[in-house]
Amino acid sequence: MATKNEKIGVLFASFEAMPFLKTGGLGDVAGSLPKALKKEGYDVRVVLPKVSCIPDKYKSKMKHIKDFYFPLSWRSVYCGIEEYTLKGITYYFIDNEYYFRRDGIYGYFDDGERMAYFSKAICEIIPYIPNFNCRILHCNDWHTALAPVFLRECYRNQPIYDRIRSIFTVHNIKFQGQMSDYVLGDILGLSQIPAANAQLHINHDTINFMKGALSYSDLISTVSPSYAQEIQNPFYGEHLERIFQRRWSSLWGILNGIDTEFFNPEKDKALTANYSADYISGKSACKKALQNEFCLEEDEDIPIIIMVGRLTQQKGLDLVACILDELLNERMQLIVLGTGDQEYEWMLKNAEYRHPDKMRVCLNFDEALSHRMYAGADMLLMPSLFEPCGLTQMISMRYGTLPIVRQTGGLRDSVSCYNEYTGEGTGFGFNNYNAHELLYTTKNAMALYHSHKDIWEALMHQAMTQDFSWDNAAKTYDDMYKEVLK
Ligand code: ADP
Repeated sequence: MATKNEKIGVLFASFEAMPFLKTGGLGDVAGSLPKALKKEGYDVRVVLPKVSCIPDKYKSKMKHIKDFYFPLSWRSVYCGIEEYTLKGITYYFIDNEYYFRRDGIYGYFDDGERMAYFSKAICEIIPYIPNFNCRILHCNDWHTALAPVFLRECYRNQPIYDRIRSIFTVHNIKFQGQMSDYVLGDILGLSQIPAANAQLHINHDTINFMKGALSYSDLISTVSPSYAQEIQNPFYGEHLERIFQRRWSSLWGILNGIDTEFFNPEKDKALTANYSADYISGKSACKKALQNEFCLEEDEDIPIIIMVGRLTQQKGLDLVACILDELLNERMQLIVLGTGDQEYEWMLKNAEYRHPDKMRVCLNFDEALSHRMYAGADMLLMPSLFEPCGLTQMISMRYGTLPIVRQTGGLRDSVSCYNEYTGEGTGFGFNNYNAHELLYTTKNAMALYHSHKDIWEALMHQAMTQDFSWDNAAKTYDDMYKEVLK
């Protein structure tokens, strides 16, 4: 029988993970994928920054296992390792108050230095992780993008590092970590290395952390098969498409899952009433409670459309702005929960002011409220300009709320559009990034809601019984891990 340290060790690096901290889909994925990989037989450990906003109930139980200093260019920086085990997964928190003792998570002037520090700390802690046969370093998004670069350039020829293969997963290509060229020498300490110079520069005075990861990692993945194709094309590639084209044979597109235990309308404690695909009646109680919570007319026949997510251009808010007034002429209610760019926050607040009886906007990040909205609504609007995977539409289907999506990236791969001839579907979709296609599709969905309750209920049932668990994805990650270790 295999002992624990003979298992293949995977160090999974992310800047956020549920339940410790979450700002979006990356937090969900890093909180649930490691558990699924563990079931596939890997010894998965997760590394995170010990940022201030991690709740005290976790921080107070972390165990200090090591502290030391390491060089970051000319600096000697402190690194503490704190260990915490939750539901069978061991997490290592990198402790450095200078970089991580902040009110928020992202958006600081020195984010480049913070992420460079975090990426190097990920490599540095490997020898100190007890009883761990580290063979795969799995990094996620630009915050950890330099770890594969440091792994190759700073730790090569050391036995413990030489057998480690690196994988980089792109969750959002929009955030790449572009920095002034002086960062390469002053912070990364790599300016004397010709390969690093060539791979990180995007022009003579700018370097790009993500470009480094895409060049240095042994394999690359992104979070849906469609998006893996799209990013090889200039419209979606955000100026990195040529690297994806060059590395297409090392590029995997694996559709995310969701934590079906956490997002479970049958057991969700945030809801007024619980329900399932076969006992749906609790959903009406959730709808009534939502209308009551937002002081909207309490009428079961008025469809509620929700939007949950970051209020940025990516999420299709320009299309929404174009059609909002026309949409709100219909018999419907619209509730938006999100934070993001000020122009969109103001646009939505303005519309709420013009339509006080039909629209509500909540500019917060509120996990429990999002669950009440997924449960109480009838439809979710997600007309994204691009969408690497998107979890919001999967969560909403799990709660029987039918998504209206632009068919791009992971939205194309996870939502099956209603077919009026066969009755198949789990939502509604349109193709072009065009406001009137969105309006037409939404009006059609509302017409179906009003006129064919039987079809609507069948669609809800189909949506709720889809398999959104990590089981399929974990099997494909297993194939990718086997491939990288060949
Ligand atoms: P992103 O591009 O932001 O990663 P995803 O759809 O992949 O988008 O995941 C977003 C996740 O964050 C979902 O779990 C969604 O419910 C959650 N979320 C986004 N904004 C909010 C908010 N304002 N309040 C609560 N949850 C939110």
